[in-house]
Amino acid sequence: MRGRKRSLKGYPPCDRCGSSADVVAYGKRVNKHGSKQTYFCRSCAHKFTPDDGFKGRRFPSEVIRATINLTQKGLTLKQVTKHIKNEFGIGVSESTVLDWINAYTTGKE
Ligand SMILES: [Zn+2]
Repeated sequence: MRGRKRSLKGYPPCDRCGSSADVVAYGKRVNKHGSKQTYFCRSCAHKFTPDDGFKGRRFPSEVIRATINLTQKGLTLKQVTKHIKNEFGIGVSESTVLDWINAYTTGKE
């Protein structure tokens, strides 16, 4: 098919089928933290938002990274949530911090 774009550089692979050959930019998803590019995979008709590996999280990835860094420094959950509140002005619950730890630090040492 003439003019069909394949293997576009800079487009992330589909988070369902893993193929990037038929991924197209779909539009932007806007929330209170800003906008995220949304993509559509034509291979499996799946719409997704890569979100820097933090897909589906309600918080900016920098907050999640900072949170994980703090926990890895040995701060308690209470200290971490307080620090995030001071630093970013965002209230994070201790259970959310635990979720992030479980989701992003497994197997890392
Ligand atoms: Zn797909």
